[in-house]
Amino acid sequence: MTVSNDLAYAEELDAQDTCAHFRERFLIEDDDLIYMDGNSLGRLPYATVDQSADLVRQQWGSRLIRSWNEGWFTAPERIGAKIASLIGAQADEVIVADSTSVNLFKLVVAALRFQVGRSQIVTDDLNFPSDLYILQGAIDMLDKQHQLQVVPSVDGIDGPVADLRARLDEQTALLTLSHTVFKSGYMYDMAALTSAAHDAGALVLWDLSHSVGAVPVDLNAANVDLAIGCTYKYLNGGPGAPAFLYIRRDLQERLINPLTGWMGQQNLFGFDLKYQPAPGLRRFLTGTPPVVSLSLIEPGVDLLREAGIEQLRAKSLRQSSYLIDLWEAELEPLGFTLKSPREQAYRGSHISLGHAEGLRIDLALINDMHVLPDFRAPDNIRLGITPLYTTYRDIHQTVQRLKHIVVERLYERYPTEAPIVT
Ligand SMILES: *Cc1c(COP(=O)(O)O)cnc(C)c1O
Repeated sequence: MTVSNDLAYAEELDAQDTCAHFRERFLIEDDDLIYMDGNSLGRLPYATVDQSADLVRQQWGSRLIRSWNEGWFTAPERIGAKIASLIGAQADEVIVADSTSVNLFKLVVAALRFQVGRSQIVTDDLNFPSDLYILQGAIDMLDKQHQLQVVPSVDGIDGPVADLRARLDEQTALLTLSHTVFKSGYMYDMAALTSAAHDAGALVLWDLSHSVGAVPVDLNAANVDLAIGCTYKYLNGGPGAPAFLYIRRDLQERLINPLTGWMGQQNLFGFDLKYQPAPGLRRFLTGTPPVVSLSLIEPGVDLLREAGIEQLRAKSLRQSSYLIDLWEAELEPLGFTLKSPREQAYRGSHISLGHAEGLRIDLALINDMHVLPDFRAPDNIRLGITPLYTTYRDIHQTVQRLKHIVVERLYERYPTEAPIVT
C-alpha cells in the first residue's frame, strides 16, 4: 500500500490538478454533496443554463418558426460534427437523433439487411440489456432469420475476448458490443476486435455510451463501421437528451434506415409522396428532432472539446487508480470486492465495488452520507469518475463514508428491496 489515506493528501492532489478549474463551469450548489454518478447523468454546465434561457425566450419565444432556419434544422449535423471530433470520426460521419436504443435498432436492421446470406449476431452478456432487447426485437422483425449469440464473460468483469473471436466466421453478420461495459467498466480493445470481425467479413457496431467524453476513441483509426452513443452521461447533455449515431462514410449510402420519415427524405419540403433517402447521414433521421433537449447538448460537448480528451483520460486514470488503492487499504478488509479491471488499459471511467450488503450500503450512502453513487444489481455500487468535476477529495470522502457505513452498521436500518431507480 503506497497510497496515503489522509484527506490532506487528497487535497494536495486537487491542488496539483490541471483540470480542476473546469469544476467551476458547472452548477454545484453543495460542495459536501458528493456526486459519483456522472456516468449516468452528467452535471449541469452553467453554459447550458444560459443556452436554455436563450433557446426558450429568444429562439422559441421571439424568433418563432424562423429559428428553424437559424440553427435548429442543422443542429443534428452541427452537434454531430462536434461529437465526431471526440471519437475520431469525420464531421459528416456523426449525427444526433432519437435515443441510443432507437439508433441501435436503425443501424442493426440496416446492417443485417446489408449482410445478405449471413445469419449470426455476436455480442456478450456484459452488454447493456436494452441493447440485447433491441437485437431480439430486430431479429423478430426480420422474421427470425438471424440468431443472437450472447457470449458469456467468465467473471462478470472482463470481456470474453478470446471466445468472441472464436465465434466470428463466414456466418457472422454483425459483432456488436458496448465499448466500455456498464457494470464493471471493462473497456474493449476496439481496434483489435474490429479488425478480427472484418477478417471474418462481419460488420462491427460499438455502443459508446460509457466511453464518449470519458476515454479516447478513434473510430476512423480502427476502421469502425457503425457506432451509437448517449449524450446525457459524460457529455453532460441533460436528462433524456437525444443520442448520436456514426456510420463510416463509404457505408452511408449503402445502408437503408428502416424508419423512413420525412426528416430523412431527400427533399423534405417537396412533400413528394414517395420516399427517397437524403444523401449522407441525414437519411438516418426520421422525425422532427426534440430541439430543446438537442440544443442543450452543445455546451457540454463544447466543454469537453475545450478540456481535451487526452488530458481528461490522464486524470480519470489517476483518479480511478487512487480509488482502487483506497479500496485496497480501507474497504477490502470490510468485505468490499473490486468488480472492475485492475489494468488501466482495460478500464473505463467508473469503478464498481461489490459487497454482500451492496444495496443497503448504497441506500445509506445516499440518505445518510450525502454521496450519490448508483447501484447495479445484484451488488454493484458503481462510482463514476467524471474528470471535468470529480475531485480527489470526493473520492477520498466516498471511501471514508463507505467505511463508516459498514463499521457503524448504518445499512441495517434499510430494507432489502430496491427502489425503482437505483
Ligand atoms: C445508457 C446506455 C444506453 C441508453 O439507452 P437509451 O436509449 O438512451 O435509454 C444504451 N446503451 C448503453 C451501453 C448505455 O450505457
